[in-house]
Amino acid sequence: MSISYGKLNVAINLDHIIHNYRLLGEHGRGLIPVIKSDAYGHGLVPVAKALAGQGVDRLAVGTIEEAVTLREQGQFRGVIMALLGANDCQEAEEAWRHRIMPMVFCLWQLDLLQQAGLAYSSRLPVAIKIETGMSRLGFSLAETDHLAGRLPGLDRLELAALASHLASADDPSARDQVMDQAERFRQVAAKFRAAGFNPALCLANSAAILAYPDLLLDWQRPGIALYGANPFHGTRLEHLGAGLKPAMTVRAPLLQIQSLPKGARISYNGTFTCPADMTVGIVAAGYADAYSRALSNKASMLLRGHRAPVLGRVCMQLTALDLTGVPEARPGDMACLLGQDGDLVITPEQMAAWWGTIPYEVFCLLGLNRRAYAGGDVSSR
Ligand SMILES: *Cc1c(COP(=O)(O)O)cnc(C)c1O
Repeated sequence: MSISYGKLNVAINLDHIIHNYRLLGEHGRGLIPVIKSDAYGHGLVPVAKALAGQGVDRLAVGTIEEAVTLREQGQFRGVIMALLGANDCQEAEEAWRHRIMPMVFCLWQLDLLQQAGLAYSSRLPVAIKIETGMSRLGFSLAETDHLAGRLPGLDRLELAALASHLASADDPSARDQVMDQAERFRQVAAKFRAAGFNPALCLANSAAILAYPDLLLDWQRPGIALYGANPFHGTRLEHLGAGLKPAMTVRAPLLQIQSLPKGARISYNGTFTCPADMTVGIVAAGYADAYSRALSNKASMLLRGHRAPVLGRVCMQLTALDLTGVPEARPGDMACLLGQDGDLVITPEQMAAWWGTIPYEVFCLLGLNRRAYAGGDVSSR
């Protein structure tokens, strides 16, 4: 695949995703890689294919639409869990047609799937989502009391899994909350077992896989760690994610270099004033490329072995850099906005700190740009 160097571009190293998958596999079995939101900006189909090449036979996406894409364009034949369930008749029909396992969070969805299934003679595996403390989607503990009683009447559906999602597994000081959620989840699982069901249990996200071996149940759902961000960055558990390798590198070309006199004000509203004569480079990246305006006067980029600070406001398609210490810089050079460049690196955690967000959002947004791939099983792309 050719890279266009004319504007901001994103390089995805699928071998790093494979490395991270294997590293997580050393902690627990039954991994269901989460590739929702276009694999956190890394590309739904390429990431799915790279993982399938490693023998992965279960994946989790967000929407039914993503699941259908995975079946049709990714030719993925394994289990696809859709974390957002099936929310209208059409999604329920698609779930049946493509054998997608929706993670169901209310009775209404179960009825929808039962109705859509009347035309079929088989049964559709569904996962049931339990609300244990995140206060987001899921059946409340009270609702689960009569849920087991309702399931036999939904004869087109098969309870394949029970799932819940942890709110604070990445916060080492929140151990009690994590344990409370896990305890509620176990209670619900016991109720279903007592009612004669034997669903797979699925709780852990990336952070829990790394930090809570006791919470490794039948299936685990790693997301962010697959893409190489450390959920414990900056905490006392940082070492747990130390071997993860970020898979996304972002680069953009340097368009012009100019010498500015002391006192020159840079970019909109002149929020940076040159304290001395400076060499300033203009890079073809801006907030329209999801290089956030929040990075104004905060971020750095890497160029020819130097760290060059961003000067002034990030514009729609342009950003100014301090190249005073980089006399060898030339127009056409590629600045590295995120990732490794020679001996230097801008980690997703560093970028997130400048940006005022988390690596998840950095990946999802920068990943909206044109992407090129390296590694993985290239022949299968
Ligand atoms: C996104 C998501 C995950 C993955 O979480 P990470 O923190 O990225 O590992 C797991 N389960 C559910 C329900 C999710 O929405």
